[in-house]
Amino acid sequence: MFTEVSAGLQSLKLISDFLEANRSLKNYNELESAIADVYAKLHTANEKLASANELILDLQQRNSSLQAKIDDLEREKLGKSEFETEIRKYQKHTFPTGMIAYAIKQEYADSVDDYDYVCKQCADNGKLSKLQPTLIRKIIVCPNCGSNIWIKK
Ligand SMILES: [Zn+2]
Repeated sequence: MFTEVSAGLQSLKLISDFLEANRSLKNYNELESAIADVYAKLHTANEKLASANELILDLQQRNSSLQAKIDDLEREKLGKSEFETEIRKYQKHTFPTGMIAYAIKQEYADSVDDYDYVCKQCADNGKLSKLQPTLIRKIIVCPNCGSNIWIKK
């Protein structure tokens, strides 16, 4: 592309030199041919500039798309590290029914009788979802995945 622009400029210089040397315009055909050559070279250079601009736009779009993905991954990574910090406060707990959840470790419980369980299925998928009591006192439910955990027979 820059080669074509440079060639176009060189041709202009040649025309200028030619005009200087042939002020009488005796060789009009040669001049016309040189001008046509300059136009052709400039046209080629313009086409290459246009396609280079398209390429730049495309690369800018790809760059911003990749930046958005990087931002998403960084947010996800931050979320995972928060999850890792929180899940360490829990330990696996098996209810008398044989069903499993994660129960808050005693040292992290707000009170002695703190009833704090996290859904095992969601925790295995990297989400911290606290199990909620239901009207049926034998069942607690995960608001995220809808799992019912039978805690009493
Ligand atoms: Zn769940």
